Amino acid sequence: MMTRSSNPAGSSKTILSTLHQWGRAILNLLLWGAAGILLVILVVLIPAFYRNLVTFPSLERQLAELETSRRPPAPVTSLNDFKGVLHAHNEWSHDSRGVLAEIIPAAKQAELDFIFFTDHPRTDIDCFPRSYHGTFDDILIISGAEKQRMLVWPLDSLCINWQMEPDSIIRRVVQHGGLVVYAHSERPHHWGNPDFQGMEIYNIHTDIKDEAMWKLLPDLIVNKKRYHRWIFRSIFDEQRRILALWDSLNTRRRVVGISANDAHNNQNIRARWFEPGTVEWVGPNADTWYIGQPAWWQKWLFSPPDTAGWIFKWEIDPYFESFRFVNTHILADRLTPRALAEHLKQGHAYIAFESLASADGFQFFATRSGKFAALMGDSLRFTPDLRLHAESPLPGRIRLVKNGVVIQEQRHTYTAVFSVQEAGIYRGEVALQLDGRWVPWIYTNPIYIFH
Ligand SMILES: [Zn+2]
Repeated sequence: MMTRSSNPAGSSKTILSTLHQWGRAILNLLLWGAAGILLVILVVLIPAFYRNLVTFPSLERQLAELETSRRPPAPVTSLNDFKGVLHAHNEWSHDSRGVLAEIIPAAKQAELDFIFFTDHPRTDIDCFPRSYHGTFDDILIISGAEKQRMLVWPLDSLCINWQMEPDSIIRRVVQHGGLVVYAHSERPHHWGNPDFQGMEIYNIHTDIKDEAMWKLLPDLIVNKKRYHRWIFRSIFDEQRRILALWDSLNTRRRVVGISANDAHNNQNIRARWFEPGTVEWVGPNADTWYIGQPAWWQKWLFSPPDTAGWIFKWEIDPYFESFRFVNTHILADRLTPRALAEHLKQGHAYIAFESLASADGFQFFATRSGKFAALMGDSLRFTPDLRLHAESPLPGRIRLVKNGVVIQEQRHTYTAVFSVQEAGIYRGEVALQLDGRWVPWIYTNPIYIFH
């Protein structure tokens, strides 16, 4: 008779086979999980790959084709067209680590003539000049401050007390020959202040506020190396509300429009040697993440230090991309702080989205009986023989805006001539055609025509 007895060999076999089944189940789960995650990543990245293969190359081709039709206009005055960046930060600001070793090469690459820095003050009593100023490799650097939503460039030896009321600060800077521009025009300001000379009509930071940054991530993974400019461009929205505000202010007095890069080079992940054997990891907004011994696996990320000392960087907003995105052109006789400031105050300036194309040489001016009469920013009396001229180095859509309203436009043209019917505040806009759409490229300061 068979007796049921415990069978140690059999029971361990059962346990083994159960373990085996579990193991297979777990492995299956892991494999399916991994496949699922891979699929999700692929699905998320597919549009970015499409842009890599189709959209961005096509945009590059269209711009290259446009470049073949470049025809620089003949100058109408003896002034030079200087191009630069207003509103930028360097290591003087708490939220930037930028040093000249990376700023100047980026500025050269973006073909800038000047940078007006606007570093956040370190103390309430803020004495100028401070931080970087002077000429470096032919780039004129002017130091200024950003605080209380103002950009301030004293241009001279002057101390500002940031505890004072904004209106008093503005008066003091302007009385000492300096420059004050309202920054972040989407936010409240004392628009009735009689002394400030200009306002930002476009600011990259203002524009980016309505973007969900995570939406840029697939392109930052797939397209950053080759098509960084188009990732940057994808944030662009015309700032219609701000332009309308600017137009309405200009019907009362001259308020000069400038573009603001708000360059910080701080939306990055970077590392540098803090001291031998100790690494500093720096995250967004230039905040220190970690100082200490690098983990073993980090070492394969590191390269020899670059000119600014970085041994690792993954940058969303390097200076070059911010600098070339949009520029303010100032028509001035000389490249000095005083000359640039004086011509800027007079509105002898236009802004251009230069990552699309250089606008060098663009003109907007008035003639009377065929003779040059006024440049953008100037005022003159109405007579029936007045004409306004826009001359663009590339063919585009040229619009004439009077008191905030588009009154005439001409398409696919290098030059447009508009006869003036009555007094008003007239400014020009140029758009380029890309993918069949008109994309804003240039905004001029107005010509003021009075009775
Ligand atoms: Zn800023």
